[in-house]
Amino acid sequence: MATRHLIIGGGTAGMNAMRAIREEEGERSEITLVSAEKPYSRMVLPYYLDRSIAESHWTLDQCRNLIAQTKAGSHVVMVGAGFISFTILNSILALGAKLTIVEIAPRILPRMIDATGADLTARWLKQHGVDVRAGVQLTKIEDARGRKRLSFKTGPDILADVVIMATGIKTNLDWLKGSGITINRGVVVDSHLRTNEPNVYAAGDIAEGLDRISGHSEIHAIEPTAQEHGRVVGSNMAGRDVSYHGSVLMNIVEVCHLDIASFGAWDDAKAEAVSGLKPDRPAYRKLLFTGNRLTGAIILGPSKDIWTTNDVGMLKGLVQSGVSLARFKDHLRRNPFDVKPVFIASNTTSALLPETVLGRPSKAPAGTPVAV
Ligand SMILES: Cc1cc2nc3c(=O)[nH]c(=O)nc-3n(C[C@H](O)[C@H](O)[C@H](O)COP(=O)(O)OP(=O)(O)OC[C@H]3O[C@@H](n4cnc5c(N)ncnc54)[C@H](O)[C@@H]3O)c2cc1C
Repeated sequence: MATRHLIIGGGTAGMNAMRAIREEEGERSEITLVSAEKPYSRMVLPYYLDRSIAESHWTLDQCRNLIAQTKAGSHVVMVGAGFISFTILNSILALGAKLTIVEIAPRILPRMIDATGADLTARWLKQHGVDVRAGVQLTKIEDARGRKRLSFKTGPDILADVVIMATGIKTNLDWLKGSGITINRGVVVDSHLRTNEPNVYAAGDIAEGLDRISGHSEIHAIEPTAQEHGRVVGSNMAGRDVSYHGSVLMNIVEVCHLDIASFGAWDDAKAEAVSGLKPDRPAYRKLLFTGNRLTGAIILGPSKDIWTTNDVGMLKGLVQSGVSLARFKDHLRRNPFDVKPVFIASNTTSALLPETVLGRPSKAPAGTPVAV
């Protein structure tokens, strides 16, 4: 009888697990997918929202509702100024809406960038017509003649046509209660992404996998981590013995043509921090060193600035590779913007090129002309 696999959830982790099973198995197995929704990646929802893709918020149904409610000139209020709300910000503006963002923390993007970066971003958004109110606590939302009235602990009320709650993710764990699977903030997994139950694996937003920089188990809730988890889990389900070496936390978002990114332990208070600021551009870099390794970074600058775009990739590479920057630290301390020569001279590309998730080069999915 063929091996039977059950995948629960048709998101990024589940789809990558299925693909890896098919790539790795010796004999064709039977795969059953059980999912609350049709398979798709939530990362594409912002593009569905601004109608740059046809069909693929938090779920597709919520996205459809939002499109139906948002007319040109509508006042949309987003509650929460975190990564996810920023991923849909451009789409809301593209629908022709007037946008206000409210945030309980004293600054926007509190779990992605530091206060200096947040300040630059808030000013940029205001210049682009987005009203930003940080440090305000929402206390009530009530109907007001077909509109919504938002009240706050301090400050004036806001009248909105559409309210979007984007106050953070909560791992969907309730359905696992009583299953015997060990749960902490997410599902606890070992070095092969196995749970404590034999033959049961966990991957993606639900799994507390290894963070490559901190060495601790963490929920990343980002697409690249879900993809890597899915690949490792699928290979192990197909009978291979693949260890998971951890993923790098990264958040990259563009709002009104301003690129904002952070990598690794960008908020590590114990790290040696070096920063550079060009407020008029605006451009900002923060580099965090643990010994001679770059273990965290923040980068912010206009998208049209090619150096910004290149530096995003190079900083991620420096953090991911963990190469020694002993010879270059003084240079970066003097000029944190001059990343390119350091990236080249430190042979970071050579360190990264042999890296693979599954211990072998990627294979192109059937019919795809390039390996992905
Ligand atoms: C609007 C939005 C924008 C985003 N943008 C980015 C981005 O730019 N970059 C980035 O890196 N990440 C982004 N993310 C995060 C990224 O989409 C997630 O990290 C990724 O989708 C996680 O994949 P997953 O397979 O673990 O979970 P999901 O994609 O959430 O898939 C899980 C699936 O399981 C189903 N399910 C849940 N419980 C059950 C159950 N009990 N039984 C059956 N089915 C169940 C769900 O309905 C869902 O279809 C974004 C997320 C959102 C919502």
